Amino acid sequence: MIRLKDVEKTYENGTKALQGISFTIEDGEFVFLVGPSGSGKSTIAKLIAGFWDVTSGSITLGGQDLKRVPLKQLYDQVAFVSQDNYLFDESIRENIRMGRPAATDAEVEAVAKAAGCDAFIRSLEHGYDTVVGGGGAHLSGGERQRIAIARAMLKDAPIVVLDEATAYIDPENEAVVQQAVGRLVAGKTVLVIAHRLSTITGADQIVVVNGGRSQDVGTHGELLKNCPLYQEMWRAHMGAKEGEQA
Ligand code: ADP
Repeated sequence: MIRLKDVEKTYENGTKALQGISFTIEDGEFVFLVGPSGSGKSTIAKLIAGFWDVTSGSITLGGQDLKRVPLKQLYDQVAFVSQDNYLFDESIRENIRMGRPAATDAEVEAVAKAAGCDAFIRSLEHGYDTVVGGGGAHLSGGERQRIAIARAMLKDAPIVVLDEATAYIDPENEAVVQQAVGRLVAGKTVLVIAHRLSTITGADQIVVVNGGRSQDVGTHGELLKNCPLYQEMWRAHMGAKEGEQA
């Protein structure tokens, strides 16, 4: 169980990103975080993944305050996948293996297949030995994202925090990424920062964040009834979908 209680986060430059965030994620739940750009969603995700400590309030994991959980232990528990997951100046094979350093080559290739990246990796001149990262081969955003998903799959952490990418997703890529994400999150406790609402109706809980506060928490049906901001976001989503189909 992950519990956020009155969480505040002020960045070093004085930006008050979060003020009074409270919600609970039960084990095995699938929770979506939605809200306008700049409302604090990524900050929440990064606090849970241990990037920083809260300024005040608390985050507990299985009842234990995150401030007291050794970073190594937290890292084993939480897989964080975002659009800017870092690729190191090493081979693709080693970049994926970082998820679990003891993994064999066969295990690395198995997750690459499951994450939909085996084919493009094999099409590179040096295959799995291709060096990527700052000084290496250029990969598209979608390819980098799938490598990050493969790395997280290998890690097999019980909690997955996923900052859903939009920037890199083209329609061709989307189905592959969705399938990879589906495999990554199966059976896990999952927090997704949703930039689009396409899969949201199946969420156990949706947390609506606005101006650094958790404005409303509920299911899709509950929020459609009670939360004007959610209604507005849903209408915009449905409108955009109709536009796509037209
Ligand atoms: P969202 O994910 O909902 O778009 P963020 O959590 O990224 O929102 O940002 C919340 C607020 O915190 C914004 O005002 C943003 O500019 C600010 N912010 C985010 N990251 C940093 C940072 N590293 N340093 C200072 N301010 C930040």
